[in-house]
Amino acid sequence: MIITVGRLGDSHDTGHTEYVGRGRGSVLGNPLPVIGRSRWTSEAAAWTSHLIHAAHLTGTEREQAQRALHRLGFEQGEAAALYLHVLREQCRTDTPQRRAVLRLAALATQGPVHLQCWCTPRPCHAEHIRAAILGYAQTLPRPA
Ligand SMILES: [Zn+2]
Repeated sequence: MIITVGRLGDSHDTGHTEYVGRGRGSVLGNPLPVIGRSRWTSEAAAWTSHLIHAAHLTGTEREQAQRALHRLGFEQGEAAALYLHVLREQCRTDTPQRRAVLRLAALATQGPVHLQCWCTPRPCHAEHIRAAILGYAQTLPRPA
C-alpha cells in the first residue's frame, strides 16, 4: 500500500491526491498552530487544554502544551508530534475526521494516496494521518 506525504502542488501520475493542511476545507488540518505561521483560535485553545489534561501524555508533552498556551502557538515539530493525540481523540467517535481517514483508507486499498500539506520537508502532522490510514486500511477487505 502506497501512502505518501508531500507538499501542496506536488504532482503524481497515479492515485488520489488529498490536501490535509489547514484551511481549504480539509477537516484533517492540524488545529494546533505553529508560532508565527498560523493564528491561535478557540479551537486551538480547546485542543491545547485537552492536551494539558490528557492523562496519557508524557510530562514533556504536557509541558509543551502548557508553553503553547502562554505563547499562543507551538514549535513546528511539537505541533506535528502532538497532533497524534488530537487525531486519536477525533477518531474515537464518528467525526468528520474519522470519516475522512476511513474514506482515504478505502482509497488506499485501490491505489496510491498522496497526502499534501505545507510543512514538508519540515515535520508534518500528515505523518500521523498516514499511519492512521494504514491502520484502518489493514482492517478493510482488499479489492479482488
Ligand atoms: Zn503539515
